[in-house]
Amino acid sequence: MPLQENMLNAPHVVLIPSAGMGHLTPFSRLAASLSSLCKVSMVSISPTVSSAESRHLSDMFSAYPDIDPIHFQLPHYDLSDHPDTDPFLLRWEMIGRSASEILNHITKSTIPVSALVIDIPIAAKFLPLAKSLGIPCYLMFISTAAMLSFLAYFPTYCDLKTTPGLGNVDIPGLRTVPAASIPGALHDPKHLFTQLFIENGRMLLKFDSVFVNTFESFEKDSLAALREGRVQPGFPPVIAVGPLMPLKMPISGTSEVFPWLDKQSANSVVYVNFGNRTAMSKDQIQALGFGLETSGCRFLWVVKTAVVDAQDVVELDELLGEGFFERVEDRAIVTKSWVDQDEVLRHKAVGGFLSHSGSNSVIEAAMHGVRMLAWPMGGDQRINAVPVVKSRLGMWPENWSWQGDEKIVTGEEIAEKVKEMMADEGLMVTAHSVGEEARRAAAPGGTSYEGLLEFVQKLKELANS
Ligand code: UDP
Ligand code: UDP
Repeated sequence: MPLQENMLNAPHVVLIPSAGMGHLTPFSRLAASLSSLCKVSMVSISPTVSSAESRHLSDMFSAYPDIDPIHFQLPHYDLSDHPDTDPFLLRWEMIGRSASEILNHITKSTIPVSALVIDIPIAAKFLPLAKSLGIPCYLMFISTAAMLSFLAYFPTYCDLKTTPGLGNVDIPGLRTVPAASIPGALHDPKHLFTQLFIENGRMLLKFDSVFVNTFESFEKDSLAALREGRVQPGFPPVIAVGPLMPLKMPISGTSEVFPWLDKQSANSVVYVNFGNRTAMSKDQIQALGFGLETSGCRFLWVVKTAVVDAQDVVELDELLGEGFFERVEDRAIVTKSWVDQDEVLRHKAVGGFLSHSGSNSVIEAAMHGVRMLAWPMGGDQRINAVPVVKSRLGMWPENWSWQGDEKIVTGEEIAEKVKEMMADEGLMVTAHSVGEEARRAAAPGGTSYEGLLEFVQKLKELANS
C-alpha cells in the first residue's frame, strides 16, 4: 500500500498526551508516523512541568508543520496541600480534571475528529466523555506489553484479594509479577498513583484498540496473552507499533558529546542515563561515580540530582568530589545537560547502556541493538526489565536497590557489573539481533508499520460506512 495518500478525505486523528518526556516522546513519534498517513493534531498543554517538555513541543511543532497543535492553557489548580508531591503525577490529575474543557476545546477549534488517541494516566477521565460524543477512542500505551498486562490484570487482582497489602501478582496465563517488582506507589491504596492506575486499568476494556510501543518478537508472550483474552477476557485488539521512529529534528542539548564520541573506538563507551525524572540520592551518585571510574571503561554519564530539570542546581565537581574530573578526563564525559539519546544510542562508539529501564529507554536500546545493564529504580521499570532479560537485550542484577530502599549499591558492585556487561560478547551479539528485528518490524512490510496502516485504513472504512 502506498504511503502517500490523498489527504483531502483522510481521517483526522487527535492525540492527547499527559505529562513527562516519557509520555510526550512516544506521542510525538506516533504523531509524526501518522502524519504521512492521515491528518494529525496533538494537544499541547501548558504550562509543562519541565523545561525539556516545553522545548520538545515547540521543536516538534516547528519541525513537523503537518502536526497541528491544539494549544490548551491549563487552569490553575492549587494542589499545594495534596498528600502526593510528584509534580508529574499532580499534573496528570490536573489534566484529568480539565478533561471536559479540553474535549470541548478540541471539538471547537479543529475539523471533525475521526479518532482520539489518549494517554493512560488520563484515560478514565477522557474516555467516557469522548464516547458520549461518539468519538472512537484508542489508547497509546507508552510502556511495554509486559506492563500493559500487569495494568490490565491489577484491578481484578485487587477485587479478588482478601487480605490487605500486595503479594505476588499472578497474571493469568502469562507470568507472576513478584510483590517486589510492583510499582512502589501501588503498595499504598490511598496514593493518587494507585487510584489513577486502578481506574485507568478498568477503563482499558472500553477502548477500540490499544497501541503499544513494542514489537512482536520482543514481547511475543505478553502480546499473545493479551490478545487471547487470557489476561482479561474481552480485551480490545492490541496493536504493537514500536519501535516508533525518532523525530527528525535538531535536539537542544549539550554539544560536547558527539565530537567526543566520534573519537572513541567502536563499542567502547558505556552510556549512563536514568531518564528524565529519576533523581538519585547524593550518596548513590557518588557510589556510581566511583563505580564508573574504577570499572576502567570509557563512559558518557548524564547526572540528574533533581526530579524537575530547572531545580537541578547542584555543582557536579562539588558532588563528585575533588579530583574526579581530572582522573576521568581522558575517558569520560559527565554532564547534567539533556543529550539526544537516540543519537547517542545509534553511535557506533556506544557499546553498553546502564539504564533505569524506563519504557522508552528500553525500546530505544532495542531499536539500536545496544546491550543494557538494567537498574530499575521504580514505577514500571522492573516489569520492563523482564523482556530485556528474556530477549537477551541485556542483564539485570535483581538485588540492586529499588525505590524506597535505603540501600546504596556500592561502587564495587557497579564496577563489576559494568565490566561484565562490556566484556560479554554473547550479549552484544544477541542485542544486535534484537536491533535487527526491531528495525524490521518498523520498516515497510514489518508488523508495526502494517499495524499503523491498518488502523488508518479502518478509520477510512468507518468514515465511509
Ligand atoms: N531522554 C533523552 N535525553 C536525556 C534523557 C532522556 O533524549 O538526557 C529521552 C529518552 O531518549 C527517552 C525519554 O527521554 O525517550 C525518557 O523516557 P523513559 O521512558 O526512558 O524514562 P522516564 O524519563 O519516563 O523515566
Ligand atoms: N501508568 C498506568 N496507569 C496510570 C498511570 C501510569 O499504567 O494511570 C503507567 C505508566 O504508563 C508507566 C507506569 O505506569 O508505564 C509507571 O509510571 P511512572 O510513575 O514510572 O511514570 P512514567 O514512566 O509513566 O513517566
